[in-house]
Amino acid sequence: LVARMRVFGTTIFAEMSALAVRTGAINLGQGFPDTDGPRAMLDEAVRAIRAGANQYPPGPGVPELRQAVSEHRRAHYGLDYAPDGEVLVTVGATEAIATSVLALCEPGDEVIAFEPYYDSYAASIALAQAKLVAVTLRPVAGRFTFDPDELRAAVTPRTRAILVNSPHNPTGTVFTREELGVIAELCRERELIAITDEVYEHLTFDGTEHVPLATLPGMRERTVGISSAGKTFSVTGWKTGWVCAPAELVGAVATVKQFTTFTSGAPWQLAVAHGLRHELGWVARLRAELQDKRDRLMEGLAAAGFDVLRPAGTYFVQTDIRPLGFTDGLELTRRLPELAGVVAIPTQVFYSHAERGSHFVRFAFCKKDEVIDEAVARLKRLS
Ligand code: PMP
Ligand code: GLN
Repeated sequence: LVARMRVFGTTIFAEMSALAVRTGAINLGQGFPDTDGPRAMLDEAVRAIRAGANQYPPGPGVPELRQAVSEHRRAHYGLDYAPDGEVLVTVGATEAIATSVLALCEPGDEVIAFEPYYDSYAASIALAQAKLVAVTLRPVAGRFTFDPDELRAAVTPRTRAILVNSPHNPTGTVFTREELGVIAELCRERELIAITDEVYEHLTFDGTEHVPLATLPGMRERTVGISSAGKTFSVTGWKTGWVCAPAELVGAVATVKQFTTFTSGAPWQLAVAHGLRHELGWVARLRAELQDKRDRLMEGLAAAGFDVLRPAGTYFVQTDIRPLGFTDGLELTRRLPELAGVVAIPTQVFYSHAERGSHFVRFAFCKKDEVIDEAVARLKRLS
C-alpha cells in the first residue's frame, strides 16, 4: 500500500458493522435504513433488468436519469443544468467526491473541509496528493457551527477548493443562508471551487430548508454539486449518485470517471430516474417519520444520561459522553457492545484534530422504532 494511504486502514463503518455482527449488538453505527425504499421504484429496477438494461450504459449516465436530475434541481432549487454536458452520473456520491477532487486538485493543493468530516474526504484528498485543511465545527447553543474568522484564516494561496457538506454528517447541522454566505464570499474573493456534498438534501427536520451553495450569487459557476439516491430513497446499496456543475467542471470530472469506473450500474439509474420523478411524496413521508425517530432516539439517549445535540438534518444524533463519566469515544464505542449491546460511531475519527472530537459519539436513527427502543433500553445500563 502506498504510504499516503496507510493511515486509513479499515474504515470505521466497516470496523463497527463487523463488531455489531460479531457481538450481535444493535447497530446504530453505520448509517443505513432497516426498511426498503418505495416499492414502485424497486419494481422499476426489476423491470429494467427484465427489459434488458444489462449492458454498459453511456458513460455520463442514462439520458432518463440525467434528465430527471436536471428537472429535480430546477424544481427544488431553481438551478438549471443541461442534462447533456452539465450532469454526470457516478457510483454513489463517494465516486463523485473522489473523482471531483482527483480532477480538480493538483498535488500540493489545499482543500478545506469542515471537521468532523465524512471519512472519504480525507482519503480522496490523499489520493490526489492534495492537503486537507480542517476548519472545526463546534457546538454553539446546541448546534455545530464554524467561526467565520477561522474559515478565512484557513485559506492560503495554495487553497484550491472547499468541500461543503450540508446537511452535515456527522453533526446534523444544516448550514443557514448566513453561513453559506460566508463560504460563498470567500469562494468568490479567493476564486475557490466549491464541492458540495448534498446527499442528505431531503432529510431535514422542523421545516429546516436545505439551501444549495450554488444558489448563492456567483456560486453556480464555481460549484460542483453532488448528491445521490442512497439516503433520499433508502437504497444505500444502489450506489447511484450524480454531479451537477458547469460543463467545464463536469467535463473534468467525467474525464476521471472514465477510468475509475467508466460508467455506473444501468438498472439502478433507470429506477432512480423514476424515483426522482414520482417518489418525492414517499420521501416527504420518510422525512416526517425520521423526524419522529430523531425525537424518539434523542429522548432515549438523554434518559440514558448522554448530553444530546439536536440535528436539523441527516439521520444522525451527536452525543457528548462526558456526563456518563467517559472521555474517549473510540474506547467507549469499542466496548459498547460488551457494556450495553449497542454499536455507535466514535466521532473523533472524522477529525484532523482528533482531541477536539474525542468526547462525541454518533448514533443513527434510521431504524425501526422497536430497534431504537431496544437500543435505548440497553444503553440505560450505562448509568
Ligand atoms: N457523503 C456523506 C456525507 C455521506 O454520509 C455518505 C454516505 N454514506 C456519502 C457521501 C456517500 O454516499 P454514496 O453512498 O451515495 O456513495
Ligand atoms: N454514510 C453512512 C454513514 O455515515 C455510511 C457510510 C459507509 O458505510 N461508508 O454512516
